Amino acid sequence: MKKIKIAIDGYSSCGKSTIAKEIAKKLGYIYVDTGAMYRAATLFFIRKGVSAEDPNLKNYLSELHIEFKSINGEDLPIVHLNGENVENEIRSLAISNQVSYYSKNKDLRQKLVHEQQEIGKNGGVVLDGRDIGSVVFPDAELKLFMTASPEIRAQRRFDELRSKGDLVDFEAILENVKSRDLEDSTRKESPLIQVEDAIVLDNSHMNRDEQLEFVMGLVQKKLN
Ligand code: C5P
Repeated sequence: MKKIKIAIDGYSSCGKSTIAKEIAKKLGYIYVDTGAMYRAATLFFIRKGVSAEDPNLKNYLSELHIEFKSINGEDLPIVHLNGENVENEIRSLAISNQVSYYSKNKDLRQKLVHEQQEIGKNGGVVLDGRDIGSVVFPDAELKLFMTASPEIRAQRRFDELRSKGDLVDFEAILENVKSRDLEDSTRKESPLIQVEDAIVLDNSHMNRDEQLEFVMGLVQKKLN
C-alpha cells in the first residue's frame, strides 16, 4: 500500500499531537512530534546556561542529540535528550515560556529540520509542528492546518497540566499560548504559516472522534 507523508501544522495547544498520534497508530505510520524536539533543545540550552540570543549557540549543537525511543513496550516513542527521557520536563510552563525564543535560531532549525527529513524521507510518517508543510516536507501528500480559539486551547492545556498535578494558573497559560502564536508566526526563520494547499481544521467545537473521522476521510482519499 502507498505510504504517504502527513504534515500537521498549526497554533500552540490545538491538539495537533493528539490527532497526529491517533492517525499514525491507525495507519501504522511513524509519528514525529517536532515540537518535542524544539522543547528538548530548549531544555538542553537552559541547562547549559546558553541564552537564546547567544551568538555562540551553534557551537553547542554538536553536543545536542535528540531521539525518539519506545519505553516499557509502549508503541509511541518518547523524546530523549542525550539518552535521558525528558518527556515530563519539556511539557512544563518554564520550557513553554522559552521555546519560541530558541526555535528562532537558524542553525538549530537547520539541524532539526534535517533530522526530521531523514526520519520521514521514505513516507509512512505523520509529523506535527509549525513548518512541516512549508519547509520540512513541502511535498507532503496531505497537509493540515489546525486551529482553535486561544481560550479553548488554553483551557485544554490547563486541564492537561492540572491532571498531572501541575498547579498552573489559567491566565499564565493563556498568556503563553497567545505569545507563542505571535512569536511563531512573526519570526524570520520558517514562521508558522498556512500554506496554500493545507486543509484547515478548526477544532474549537469538535471532539476527538469527529476530528479523527474528518482526517481519516482525507487520508483515505489520498490513499485511493
Ligand atoms: O508543538 P509544541 O507546542 O510542543 O511546540 C513548541 C514550540 O516549538 C512552538 O511554540 C515553536 O516555537 C517551536 N516549534 C517550531 N517548529 C516546529 C515545531 C515546534 O518552531 N516544527
